Amino acid sequence: MKKFILLLAPFLINTSMANSYCAKYEKPKSYVKVQKSVDEKLEQFANNKTIAASADAVLSKLITAKSPYVTSWYAKNDFKNKTEEQIAHAWRKDFAMNFLLMKYPQDDAKIDNEIEMVIDGLLKENLTPTYQAKMEKLFLTSKKLAIDTVSKMKLKESDVIIKRIESIKLYWPKNLKSSRNNSMPLDLIEWGIAYDPVPNEINIGVGSLAYPNNETYMAVFAHEIGHAFDPCRWGAFFEGPWPFEKVGECLRSDKSVGAKKRDDSKIEEFLKSGKLTPDLATSLRENPTCNKFAYPGKGIQADQLPESFADWFSAETISHAKKMNARKLRLDLCEVKTLNAGSSYPDNQSRQDKIYFANPKIKGMITTLSIEAAENYCSL
Ligand SMILES: [Zn+2]
Repeated sequence: MKKFILLLAPFLINTSMANSYCAKYEKPKSYVKVQKSVDEKLEQFANNKTIAASADAVLSKLITAKSPYVTSWYAKNDFKNKTEEQIAHAWRKDFAMNFLLMKYPQDDAKIDNEIEMVIDGLLKENLTPTYQAKMEKLFLTSKKLAIDTVSKMKLKESDVIIKRIESIKLYWPKNLKSSRNNSMPLDLIEWGIAYDPVPNEINIGVGSLAYPNNETYMAVFAHEIGHAFDPCRWGAFFEGPWPFEKVGECLRSDKSVGAKKRDDSKIEEFLKSGKLTPDLATSLRENPTCNKFAYPGKGIQADQLPESFADWFSAETISHAKKMNARKLRLDLCEVKTLNAGSSYPDNQSRQDKIYFANPKIKGMITTLSIEAAENYCSL
């Protein structure tokens, strides 16, 4: 019997804290409403006169040219029992989402104007002054806690890190035309909350409305602040060795989340085929924890240390909060997500169990959770 229990032990541990913690989670109703409204606006956009005419013209050109794209698009969709009008609608929606909203500006002033109108409308409708004020307040609280946390760490680098944290701001896109990274309009809608290292700002998009409560927002802001000095960004913005090396090693280990290393086995091949420039290949080798757009890319393992570290720092920060309903912390991670192969994130449940709940202070705040996770804690 004893042997049986021993064999079962890893599975028992896996019926982890996160499961009971997540039992009552559901996607915020307010965000479901936002998604519905975004969908409706995009549907209207795809079927307005200018956009529909452009979609229809492209479709007839492709059909005349016997384009394999149209054949495979048709095959991918189930159009059995669908009317011609329904098929036309589906084409217009796909065309709008995958072409028009993926490149800006287009070579057509009328279409650009329509794209600007739909994106600006969605930004205005969702990133309201009230919402912005609320987020700024939560961000400020999170930032103060993060500064307090770094100062208590008493690193010889604490001052330079604090200086960088102090200057982090939130970036609110006002309209498509003036916005940063506006070459893919749909990004502004899909953006959640993401740190941007060069301006040292946190980009906010309509997707930021997805988080379920203030505690989670504060933890997400602390995670983004952690990216300002994660192992990848350290090399670019600070001097000397990364002061969290010991934490990093622990996060890489089985004791913690087992953050995977970037798979560099394809760099040479990419270099030979011209998919990577020699400069980029050198930069990748010099920065082994950085994930770039050109590499590793889909299907090749990205480095998971920057995301794991950002979670670790977020847990440290939140554990310094005086009043915190830890039962509500990072409930967004209860969302079951299928990660892309090679994702830069460990899976959601591991992030909760092995990073957030491994923090002894957070564990202490959630007294109803019964399993001792603190032994997995990565200390400084
Ligand atoms: Zn992150």
